[in-house]
Amino acid sequence: MGAMVTSPPLKAIGLISGGLDSALAAGLLKEMGVELHGLNFSTGFCKVDHRRAINDPREDPERLRNPALRVGAMLGFPVEILDVAAAYLEVVRNPRYGYGANVNPCIDCRIFMLHKAREVMEAEGADLVFTGEVLGQRPMSQYRKALDTVERDTGLEGRLLRPLSARFLEPTLPERDGRLDRRRLLSIQGKSRRPQIALARQLGINEYEQPSGGCCFLADPNYARRFRDLVNSAGTVAITSEDTTLLKVGRHFRVSPTVKLVTGRNEGESGYLERFARGRWTLTPVGRAGTFALGLGEPDQAQFQVMAGIVARYSRHRDRDLVDVQIARGDTLQILSVTPASDELVDSLLV
Ligand code: SF4
Repeated sequence: MGAMVTSPPLKAIGLISGGLDSALAAGLLKEMGVELHGLNFSTGFCKVDHRRAINDPREDPERLRNPALRVGAMLGFPVEILDVAAAYLEVVRNPRYGYGANVNPCIDCRIFMLHKAREVMEAEGADLVFTGEVLGQRPMSQYRKALDTVERDTGLEGRLLRPLSARFLEPTLPERDGRLDRRRLLSIQGKSRRPQIALARQLGINEYEQPSGGCCFLADPNYARRFRDLVNSAGTVAITSEDTTLLKVGRHFRVSPTVKLVTGRNEGESGYLERFARGRWTLTPVGRAGTFALGLGEPDQAQFQVMAGIVARYSRHRDRDLVDVQIARGDTLQILSVTPASDELVDSLLV
């Protein structure tokens, strides 16, 4: 016989990313009669959020609605979006369990999110927290020891359910007291996506983002390089979420330990950078002949020359001997006539 979920129904708080695995975990529990409440974390490092922010013309605006909300709407349960950017940045800077291949602090990230989920669980009087984690699917955060570490550090022992791999893991309290039928939970493990795709079909789940590791900036090698450069050059200066946001866009040139140039690669990026112009230096080829750039820090005149040369190099006038570049901040304005930077110079400064 199937599960007998006695009344009152179990209530579970789920981490919903918008990817397939958390949608499946939710779908499975829903089928078992569990009442669901989803949480989606806005960390400031999500690529889908970013594509939405820059109005990426390759994206259908409808598809860019928060994918976790779409999953909630499809399965019929509420999903709450929590903006945790400021606190999360601290986790990224000082992860207790270190980084994965890039600057992805996956174990600390899970602990951070599950801590919040536990708070919500307690506030809502819910019984469980669940995630879509699959044992052995990802190198860092989903091997057995990591799952145990996360459970211990979050104080969620016996209350953290991973429905997709549950049969390999210790039974949670509601499984032990018979309120949740363990036999209906699954034993998926490893990297193959086939069991998940079959289950999606079975549960009628057709709305989800593609597998999710690729949607985190922290796991992206290009982003990681820029992030490390920022941390190395910031010294004791506090890094803000604007700093880390800017790392997502354009080309970055390290002019000195305290001065950087960021150029837009296309109109979308230039428009996005313009939103950060207040209080910063802006560099543009005169006559709007190309890229918009931001100058970060307090450059001296020689550094302005170098930065203007780079902006000229990416302008439509790059073949000219001299290009006029306007440099401005507030009421301060100057125009420099510069030689476009050489490829060697550009390559040597590119972060
Ligand atoms: S890939 Fe990014 S979002 Fe996912 S667990 Fe790691 S740090 Fe967190």
